Amino acid sequence: MSDCLFCKIVSGEIPSDIVYQDDKIIAFKDIQPQAPVHVLVLPREHIPTVMNITEESSNLIGYLHLKVKEIAEILGVAESGLRLVCNYGKDGDQIVQHIHFHLMGGRPLTWPPG
Ligand code: AMP
Ligand code: ZN
Repeated sequence: MSDCLFCKIVSGEIPSDIVYQDDKIIAFKDIQPQAPVHVLVLPREHIPTVMNITEESSNLIGYLHLKVKEIAEILGVAESGLRLVCNYGKDGDQIVQHIHFHLMGGRPLTWPPG
């Protein structure tokens, strides 16, 4: 999608600090980290929100979750723990309309979030 920030990061038009990528997904450092480890994991394909996942794209979203272990190992938080968050809508405070999962760790994270 031409006016999507994360599609531009996927295509390389906008630079990012990539920690993992393959032909289906990409993970890069959040520009405003809220924890020592704060990475965004997303499919290369433009799926706007969690509400737009279809039967067809559910395989891709499943694949993304499969890769969390590998990404967590790269980031050094596989043992210490992490949080995986997907925001949606007004109350969920989703700002960028290209589905993404915040992978956060590197410090104890409180619950519930604000
Ligand atoms: P959300 O509120 O779930 O849509 O989160 C969007 C996230 O994208 C925020 O945590 C931002 O800090 C992050 N973000 C915005 N622009 C960039 C960028 N150019 N590179 C990396 N992360 C970004
Ligand atoms: Zn997009």
